[in-house]
Amino acid sequence: MDAARPRREAPLTEQTLLRVASIHALAYCERLFYLEEVEEIRVADGAVFDGRRVHEELDDGEVSSFTLEAPVLGLKGRLDALRRTGGDLIPIETKKGKSAPGEGPEAAWRTDRLQVGAYAMILEEAFGIPVSEGRVRYLADHKSIRVPVDATLREEVGEAVRRANELRASVERPPVTPNERLCPRCSLAPVCLPTVGATDEQPEPRRVRILPPHRDRMTLHVFEQGAHVGRSGNELAVKPVDGPTHRQPIHSVGAVVVHGNAQISTQALRLCAEEDVSVHWISGGGFVTGALSTSSTGAQRHLRQFEALSDNQRRLDLARRLVAAKVEAQLRFLLRATRGGERPESTEAAIRRVRAPLPAIHRAENVETLLGREGEAAAGYFGALGALLREDLDPRLGFDGRNRHPSRDRFNALLNFGYGLLYRECLGNILAAGLHPGVGFYHRPRSAAHTLVLDLMEIFRVLIVDMALIGALNRLTFDADADFEERGSAIWLAADGRKKMVQLIERRKRDEWNHPAIGGPIDYGRMMELEARLLEKEWTDEIHLFARVRIR
Ligand code: SF4
Repeated sequence: MDAARPRREAPLTEQTLLRVASIHALAYCERLFYLEEVEEIRVADGAVFDGRRVHEELDDGEVSSFTLEAPVLGLKGRLDALRRTGGDLIPIETKKGKSAPGEGPEAAWRTDRLQVGAYAMILEEAFGIPVSEGRVRYLADHKSIRVPVDATLREEVGEAVRRANELRASVERPPVTPNERLCPRCSLAPVCLPTVGATDEQPEPRRVRILPPHRDRMTLHVFEQGAHVGRSGNELAVKPVDGPTHRQPIHSVGAVVVHGNAQISTQALRLCAEEDVSVHWISGGGFVTGALSTSSTGAQRHLRQFEALSDNQRRLDLARRLVAAKVEAQLRFLLRATRGGERPESTEAAIRRVRAPLPAIHRAENVETLLGREGEAAAGYFGALGALLREDLDPRLGFDGRNRHPSRDRFNALLNFGYGLLYRECLGNILAAGLHPGVGFYHRPRSAAHTLVLDLMEIFRVLIVDMALIGALNRLTFDADADFEERGSAIWLAADGRKKMVQLIERRKRDEWNHPAIGGPIDYGRMMELEARLLEKEWTDEIHLFARVRIR
């Protein structure tokens, strides 16, 4: 065996073999390697899809690709192509981008040289013949770079395998790379959330360095009773009872929400699972009755969450911030909505009632105190909410106090359904962030609802549901007859009412607001994801940016 190869006591099993692509990630950034290989986070963004297409085209066309394993080396990988020249084998790796600046082997990026070197060493172990050269082909500038597989490259591959295995055995996520230039091109930047701005002298505020402002994948809601979602190639085909079938490419879908008794086929479910598209089932009343999520549930992330949230002081600190964010949102919404005119004394009194508990919330010494203060603010807020509606609104759509399921009036039916949609959004984002939805820090387990989801929702109840609903009612969006159904003393949303509410929340998700963690605008859809990931950063990186968002 070559002296530079990693030494193993015994051949590794297939489960423990490293993917060669992971060596590529490791050479790029150790944190990227850890997120992908240990925490099993993959983000299928545009660049990843482009990369896949390159390989799919190669599969169909000029060259074949195949998988090889090298148990002694500890690697497995899928070669794009293998060329035989005389008696020599030459592994070929194809990249979508441009070659590196430089001449000779230096014109191949270091990460790519390492990758092709690893393939060469796998071939040697698999076929028992020496491989002295590899090639990296760059499609963007049509260059094919020869890479000698010499002692230095072999040593680098061996060291990378050793380091990768060391990281795999660790529960600690490596720090953000100091090389900021790497992050803008990193597919996991929206998950990693690299931060800038902190110094030893001034640890706060930090800023998230990169976060795409918009979601590029939509939520597909299937409302109609009897509608059926099937698979057609790489598309979801939604067939209503009457009317034409609507097709949606799977790559444009982030989540499918099946309302009521709509159906989804096994084939469509499998496509969603393969493409990391979550599927949620929602009852007519807005309850999430089930969810399919293929996001990784990496044990490391759960272990870190359980450990962090078993610390009473951390839980209390997070809960204080959460309740402060919610109550300040209630206060500022009341102030905003009544700005510019003379406020009636009842509204002024309600505003005072919402504001009064804030100092005590910031210094609350236990969760019971927080619950009490939150309740005081809520009484003031909901006492004033009805006054924000236009005077000529159909009185059946007015608000005269909060009630939950089953709703006893139209306003609460809308609010409860809206909160159900918000629950689904928060659940999806918590699962996407790899957190356990049932392990929260503020809510107590009292129902089937996941406590961490209920926690996260608190930041967004006012921002996403209440503000959007009051605005829609004042624009006369809802029809007190056609959009509701009365069943005994309970009021439910009719199909049209549910559809309008879904459209309202989906539109609201696209509205932008400044977020202090990124120092700029971000839409509310992404903001829910950002807050879920910022929560995890509280304990993975000790960066305290969770629940800092405020309306002005
Ligand atoms: S965003 Fe930057 S620090 Fe984070 S994984 Fe990617 S390259 Fe590494």
